[in-house]
Amino acid sequence: MKEKNSIERDPSETMKAPRYMGIPTFMRTPLITHPSDVDIAMIGVPYDGAVTNRPGARHGPREIRNASSMMRSIHHVTRVNPYSLCRIGDAGDVPFTNVYDVEAAHKDITQFFNRIHSAGVVILAAGGDHSITLPILRTFASGGPVGLIHVDAHTDTWDGSFGSKFAHGSPFRRAVEEGLLDPKRTVQIGIRGPQNSPEGWDYSHDNGMRVIFIEEFVRIGVQAVIEETLNVVGEGPTYISFDIDGLDPVYAPGTGTPEVGGLTTIDAQALLRGLRGLNLIGADVVEVAPPYDPSGNTALVGAAIMYEILCLLAETVAETKQEKKR
Ligand code: MN
Ligand code: MN
Repeated sequence: MKEKNSIERDPSETMKAPRYMGIPTFMRTPLITHPSDVDIAMIGVPYDGAVTNRPGARHGPREIRNASSMMRSIHHVTRVNPYSLCRIGDAGDVPFTNVYDVEAAHKDITQFFNRIHSAGVVILAAGGDHSITLPILRTFASGGPVGLIHVDAHTDTWDGSFGSKFAHGSPFRRAVEEGLLDPKRTVQIGIRGPQNSPEGWDYSHDNGMRVIFIEEFVRIGVQAVIEETLNVVGEGPTYISFDIDGLDPVYAPGTGTPEVGGLTTIDAQALLRGLRGLNLIGADVVEVAPPYDPSGNTALVGAAIMYEILCLLAETVAETKQEKKR
């Protein structure tokens, strides 16, 4: 029974209030405490203990939540309204019991995501550095290796960094080794920038990943990249991992390891809008680092990319629900 003077608010009202009001959640969705309340949960992963250069992505989820109050409901191109297609909420941040030991922190991530995933909820995460994608992918482990659409300046398939196998330059190599990722159903988009060794690039190539360096992206254009991506991942379960440093630092300066000469925001939006109809199981947007983002634009871009992905996930969820009814 509710207390007489309860100040509880109706969660469906959050979209109707002015966007500057209220406690910031992702996209102003209700903060949920039970996974069964939603079809899609957005989750913050405020962890940057595995960066190879500048820290700061631990502050990403909070700033993305704040900037995401700019987002509204209906997509102006596809006319998709994710909130009318399914139930979407903010499940809060991963509760870390340990942040000083990378592998222990990763366990915290897997444990929390398992609780949500096992309730049949689709996940959209906000990082955090890119190391968080490995413990997220471990959540899907029982289902066999998944396909991957990976936007990034870096392949993140290096064997190790400064004594760790689990730093943010290695998640996709570990994911292949652990049988979580099918390299032949993986496409890496926007790769560029100097490295001290080519071993990461070579690993991706030698293991059958489709690596689209930025020069090829510019040469063939976004439509051809979409077609190639759809071909590579096919109809199997697919995860999207979007490192904000895949974008040019002109659009997203607030990140730990920026590389000039990257994707435009228009390219990225067009690319994501071309991925409708895939069998998407989850996604993340990582490496937004507010300390290098004085204008707040990188957090806004992160929120906008999350919104694009949310529209894709909502369509997939709605389709699955329809199929179950049939
Ligand atoms: Mn990355
Ligand atoms: Mn990167």
